[in-house]
Amino acid sequence: MSTPAQTALLPFVEARRAVERVARQSKPAAVELVALADSRGRVLAEPVTADRDFPPFPRSTRDGYAVRAADLARLPAKLRVVGEMRAGGSWTGAPLAAGQAAEIMTGAAAPPGADAVVMIEYTTRAGETVEVARAVAAGENIVPAGAEARAGSALLAPGTRLAHPQLALAAAAGRTELRVFPRPRVAILSTGDEVVEVAAQPGPHQIRNSNSYSLAAQVEAAGAVAVQLPIAPDQLEPLRRLLLQGLASDLLLITGGVSVGKYDLVEQALAELGAEFVFTGAAIQPGRPAVLGRVPPRSGADPVPFLGLPGNPVSTMVTFQLFARPVLDALSGAAPQPLRFLQARLKSDLRTKTGLTRFLPARLSGEFENVEVEAIRWQGSGDMASTAQADCYLVVPPDRDTLKAGELVSILLL
Ligand code: AMP
Ligand code: MG
Repeated sequence: MSTPAQTALLPFVEARRAVERVARQSKPAAVELVALADSRGRVLAEPVTADRDFPPFPRSTRDGYAVRAADLARLPAKLRVVGEMRAGGSWTGAPLAAGQAAEIMTGAAAPPGADAVVMIEYTTRAGETVEVARAVAAGENIVPAGAEARAGSALLAPGTRLAHPQLALAAAAGRTELRVFPRPRVAILSTGDEVVEVAAQPGPHQIRNSNSYSLAAQVEAAGAVAVQLPIAPDQLEPLRRLLLQGLASDLLLITGGVSVGKYDLVEQALAELGAEFVFTGAAIQPGRPAVLGRVPPRSGADPVPFLGLPGNPVSTMVTFQLFARPVLDALSGAAPQPLRFLQARLKSDLRTKTGLTRFLPARLSGEFENVEVEAIRWQGSGDMASTAQADCYLVVPPDRDTLKAGELVSILLL
C-alpha cells in the first residue's frame, strides 16, 4: 500500500486482483440465528449436515411396478402383484419373492426384495397379474437410501450463500433456524457542492443526488445493509467529519470527488485520516478515477475498506459492480466470487478507442441460444437515461478498437 501520488492507473485485471486481495483481509465479526424463511441471501456460519440418509429409503422415481430385475430375463414376463406401495406408505408383507411384483408410485419406498421399477407404460395389468413388456437393469428407477447424502455428512459448508437450492436442502434437513453471518453495513457518502437531496428543488446548476439511490439498491441486492449519509460538500472539514462517520460501517462507499479537479478532495481527506491506498485509478471506462484503500483501525478494530467511486452516475454503477462485490462477499462471510463475463453475438459493428477496458451499456435481444447484444447510444458516463434501458455491459478489451457484427463478445449482466 502507498500514498495516492505513488500509485498509477492499473490495468483492469490488476485492479480487480487488488480488490480480491483487500477482500481476503476482510471478514464478518459475529454470528446470528435466523429463521429458515428469512435466510435467503444470507451466508451460512455453520455447516448444515444431513440428519438422515438422503433419500431416507430406496425411492422409486417412477409410477409402475417394483420387480426383481432377474425375473424379466424372458419377455413378455407375467408377474403376480402381491401388494401396493404408495408414497408415504410402508410395506408390511414378506420381501418380494421370485415371480412377484408390487404396484408402486413415484416417491414411495421400494419394498424389500425389489431391485428395480418398471415404468407403468411398459406393463399391462389383468387382475392379480401384470405383464411386463420391457426388461430393466438392477437398480433402474430406484435411488438407493443415502445415495444423495449419508446421515451425518455435510450438505452445506459454512460460507455458502443461501439461494433457493440451498434453502430447499436446509428445509429437507429439518433446519427451522440457521446460524448466519450478519449482513455487512455499507455507508454511502455522496459528495459534491452541486449535489442536492432528491426532495429539494435544485437550482439551475444543481443536480439531484441519484448515486446514493443506485448504490443503496446495488448494496441491498448484494445482501448488505445500506447506510445513507448526508451529502458532503467539497470542503475538507465537513468531508472529513462525514468520512469518519462512514468509517463506523464495515465498508465505506464514496461517490464523486475522486478525479483530478481542484475541488476533488476525497483522496486528500482520506489521506489525512491515515488511509492506505491500494489503487487510485483503473484503466477502464467508465470509472477510470476509482480509488480503493483501507483506513487503519482505531481502537483495535479491523481496518475499514473504502471505495471512492467517480461521481458520474454510470461510472458509479459500473465501478460498484466491478470492485465492491468481492469485498462485500468477504465481509458477508462468503468466498469472493470470480467476475464472469458471458458471451453474446454482436448485433452491429462497434468502434471505440484502444487503451481502456470499456463497459458500455448494452441491450440483449433474441432468446435461447441466439442471443445478440448491441451497445446503446449514449452521451457518456453521465447518461443515466440510456443506461436505464440497458440490461448488460458490453465489455471491450483494451486492445480492440473495432468489433464486427456477428463476432462473439463479452458481456457483464447488470
Ligand atoms: P465528480 O466525480 O465529483 O467529478 O463528479 C462527476 C460528475 O458526476 C459530475 O457531473 C457530478 O455532478 C456528477 N455527480 C456527482 N455526484 C453525484 C450524485 N451523487 N448523483 C448524481 N450525479 C453526481
Ligand atoms: Mg464532484
